[in-house]
Amino acid sequence: MRVGIDIGGTKTHAVVLDERGAVLDQWRGATGFGADAVVTAAVTAVTVLAERQHLLPTRFSSIGIGIPGTVDGHLGRVAHAVNLGVESLDLGAVVQSRLGRPVSVENDVNAAALGAYHLLAPTGVRSMAYLNLGTGLAAGIVLGGALWRGPRGVAGEIGHVVVDPRGPECPCGQRGCLETLASGSALARLWPQSPDPTVHRLFAAVDARDPVATTVAERVVENIAAAVRLLVLTVDVDAVVVGGGLSSLGDRLLDELRERLRRDAARSPFLASLELPTRVLLSPRDAPVAAIGAALVGQRSRDAVVAEAPAGLP
Ligand SMILES: [Zn+2]
Repeated sequence: MRVGIDIGGTKTHAVVLDERGAVLDQWRGATGFGADAVVTAAVTAVTVLAERQHLLPTRFSSIGIGIPGTVDGHLGRVAHAVNLGVESLDLGAVVQSRLGRPVSVENDVNAAALGAYHLLAPTGVRSMAYLNLGTGLAAGIVLGGALWRGPRGVAGEIGHVVVDPRGPECPCGQRGCLETLASGSALARLWPQSPDPTVHRLFAAVDARDPVATTVAERVVENIAAAVRLLVLTVDVDAVVVGGGLSSLGDRLLDELRERLRRDAARSPFLASLELPTRVLLSPRDAPVAAIGAALVGQRSRDAVVAEAPAGLP
């Protein structure tokens, strides 16, 4: 049995997977703020799930954690997890010292990509980009069943591709990044008229024929479509799976996005040949993809360690 833990800004969600990768048990709790709270959330999740399975935490075959921020998977270190109040933390080593079991750490979007791939692979998807539309915008890329991180771990960080050089300032120091035009933070900036600019409220206002909301929604969807196009034109993945907070709008978002992609393709035989509307999907609803992916990260890194161990060593 493998454990995967998704540590989010407010909630921690953990799962136990059986040997076939099916979810056996789940646990949810509050994350808290700061390094100690993050470590406590992870340790509590594993301890509670072990008790429920009537075994010691050391009996889990692997433990993996998905967490926002810059993650060094080799060192198990997380940095700049601003929403969690973590500047730098040797998360893997600290949790391992508390549980007595190796712990793998991965960026949360990459973990979600692996989890979504695990759920979609039986449908024939072989390569996939997971487009996370949360407060920020980023993608995780899975090629042939494995995450593609790149040598510096920035593969898929398309939120900081500049699409409008004269656009708004981005916290990264550039102007007009995709993230400033198609994300939760973009929504808040583009729709300052709303006291609570959620994607659900935005589309409710569109349905009520609010002209400002309609313009904002068109702009956001147009730039999500640009992100989908960018991913397919860069890595030509079978599918782009949309997840994150904005995807909670469900089929409405998918319909709007597909319609936008169709309209763009109507002007371009080249785009039409890419069949983008059929390649874009929603992340499996109600499935804890990041926690499932974190469990698989743990499994994969354990396998890698075994495979790389010099002959003769246990
Ligand atoms: Zn940026």
